[in-house]
Amino acid sequence: MTDVDLFEAEAAALARASQVLQSPAADVVHYRDALEQLVQNYGQLMRQSRRLISRSDRTERELNALNARLQQLSDELDYKARHDNLTGALNRGAVFDAARGILEDSALSLIVLDIDFFKRINDEFGHPAGDAVIRELVQRLRQGLQGEGLIGRVGGEEFSVLLADMPLQAAARVAQDIRQAIIGEPFACLPSHPVTASFGVSWSAAGGDFESAYARADEALYRAKRGGRNRVESNG
Ligand code: GH3
Ligand code: MG
Ligand code: MG
Repeated sequence: MTDVDLFEAEAAALARASQVLQSPAADVVHYRDALEQLVQNYGQLMRQSRRLISRSDRTERELNALNARLQQLSDELDYKARHDNLTGALNRGAVFDAARGILEDSALSLIVLDIDFFKRINDEFGHPAGDAVIRELVQRLRQGLQGEGLIGRVGGEEFSVLLADMPLQAAARVAQDIRQAIIGEPFACLPSHPVTASFGVSWSAAGGDFESAYARADEALYRAKRGGRNRVESNG
């Protein structure tokens, strides 16, 4: 491979000018000729440099825009990986991660709730109506919680609420508030059919194990189901 000298003409003009400068015999014609060549090459170099700088500025702006878009896509991907797309609540994996994070240095109350006889809603009104009920139930959860707690969808029609640093009895009251928010008025998406849910509540000290907290809340939930549904049971 031969090396191409990108500045061949400029180097030749520079060499010629140096030669003229060093030659005691050089006269005005030589000086003029060398200077002309220098001026021509210098002007061309400046024009090329300006073009290169503006091209590199444009490339830098394009790269910055691409980087910003990449960051936005990565944030969106991260959000989608942690949220349920039907309701916007945290998904099961994100609930478990958040709960473990809280339990590292705080106590935690956990509410698990499950829609009662949800299969009947699907069977009688169709799957899209069931989806609408799930979405509206999460809205009621937000209403009942008034900004407290982290809401998750841990199963098809099963949800959780994480309440950091809240004692069991207070969490059971929050569960009652949510139950009231659900039964308080008919669901806008299914006004002819009453929607209720059953609740299990558990509490763990800081450093506790979330799997055990979840199992205890689940036990309480099934007690609520067996006890007639639409109720709250606790399991410290
Ligand atoms: P229980 O009171 O004992 O909880 O009875 P259930 O009918 O609510 O419980 P079951 O476990 O028998 O039925 C739950 C149904 O939820 C079955 C499943 O098809 C439905 N389901 C799960 N995920 C979704 C979903 O995303 N959308 C809809 N429409 N239905 C779902
Ligand atoms: Mg159910
Ligand atoms: Mg269920």
